[in-house]
Amino acid sequence: MDASDRESGAGVPERNWAGNVRYSAARRHRPTGLDELRRLVTGSDRLRAVGTGHSFNRLGDTGGDLVSLAGLPPTVEVDRERSTVTVAAAVRYGDLATRLHAAGYALPTMASLPHISVAGAVATATHGSGVGIGNLASAVSALELVTADGDLLTVRRDADGDRFAGMVVSLGALGVVTRVTLDVVPDFEVRQYVRLGLSRAALDEAFASAYSVSLFTDWRGDRIDQVWRKQLADAPPPPADWLGTTAAAGPVHPVPGMPARNCTAQLGEPGPWHERLPHFRLGFTPSSGDELQSEYHLPRAAAAGALAALDPLADRIAAVLQVCELRTVAADELWLSPQYRRDSLAVHFTWIGDADAVAPVLAEVERVLAPFAPRPHWGKVFTLDPAAVAAAYPRHADFLALARELDPVGKFRTDLLDGYFPR
Ligand SMILES: Cc1cc2nc3c(=O)[nH]c(=O)nc-3n(C[C@H](O)[C@H](O)[C@H](O)COP(=O)(O)OP(=O)(O)OC[C@H]3O[C@@H](n4cnc5c(N)ncnc54)[C@H](O)[C@@H]3O)c2cc1C
Repeated sequence: MDASDRESGAGVPERNWAGNVRYSAARRHRPTGLDELRRLVTGSDRLRAVGTGHSFNRLGDTGGDLVSLAGLPPTVEVDRERSTVTVAAAVRYGDLATRLHAAGYALPTMASLPHISVAGAVATATHGSGVGIGNLASAVSALELVTADGDLLTVRRDADGDRFAGMVVSLGALGVVTRVTLDVVPDFEVRQYVRLGLSRAALDEAFASAYSVSLFTDWRGDRIDQVWRKQLADAPPPPADWLGTTAAAGPVHPVPGMPARNCTAQLGEPGPWHERLPHFRLGFTPSSGDELQSEYHLPRAAAAGALAALDPLADRIAAVLQVCELRTVAADELWLSPQYRRDSLAVHFTWIGDADAVAPVLAEVERVLAPFAPRPHWGKVFTLDPAAVAAAYPRHADFLALARELDPVGKFRTDLLDGYFPR
């Protein structure tokens, strides 16, 4: 890529991955060095960073300058003494994982797909599943970012305390993150088993049964269709009659009709953490590709009540649904994390790609979930009332104050932020 390509923004996505958002940026940039990035930030009055564009809403959109950091050196530095890795913002989790595995390390969790950038995923509190496992942002121990005035700021968990907790899940509103430091653990192996036909009464037992468990349902019956049990390799396999389920006869894809070859290995075959914790393989299309996604995080204790409340909508949900996934995420201290001080059930919907058909059902789902204080996934489609969202995040006002302090002119603002964090 030469200088003219960089100026024309070649290599910066024009649309998000799902294709439902065309970025409205007047200019697109792909700097190759930190100084170039700092000059861009200083010289712009409206700017957003874009990661791999896997979010489904306009959180990352701007009418000004859209900046991809994919041209910066893809640094991955392991610190064996501190058990951390410092990684360039645009590195994808899948690439980071390969490097970590080769160095004898692991991350505690992965999202369903390894295709997403570290900074983009952390900014929206992307998560995997596990009753004792936090989201991806909860592993962050330091951040380096370019703030609105072009300064380079480093914040650390051990030095910046509560303020740090406000800056990790940033929604891109505090600056352009250039490097992220993450806690790592020793490399480990996982076996993945898929079981079919779980009774809803056994939900809690299923979630607690293994390191990371995901449940899939199409809302066409009263049972959970698939249980993806990702267990540490030395844990015993589930018995034949485990919780009244049956073993899948061969590899499956969670979305009916999609090819299982896009998915990570199943049937109990042991493999490294990064080739089992995500559902989908790097190099293959994750999920279905033609879709919209929404997700709501509820207190875990509300699981049974929330699912029962959704029951009367089952037929309407099923009519516009590809698959619904239920996961658990452990509580954390990050101000804008959907798991802030709340062990959570994540209720995820992979909808068909028809926004008009989905909209009325989404509105009904949000109405029914409202009594459970839902916190939306920041990177997915939601239309919750801004006042209700503010009420669900106890540190909402503190975050707004932090954003005003670090970005007094609103350089990193978007319409979506203006709606949910009015200045
Ligand atoms: C098929 C599919 C499966 C998914 N599975 C999961 C899942 O399992 N769990 C889950 O929680 N989510 C999931 N998601 C959602 C996805 O993980 C999030 O939307 C995530 O934010 C995408 O990362 P990205 O790099 O594409 O970020 P983008 O969508 O490019 O950006 C997201 C936000 O981060 C900001 N940002 C990006 N880079 C920077 C930076 N350097 N500095 C400051 N701000 C920045 C952007 O401005 C934007 O606001 C899935 C999405 C898809 C398409």
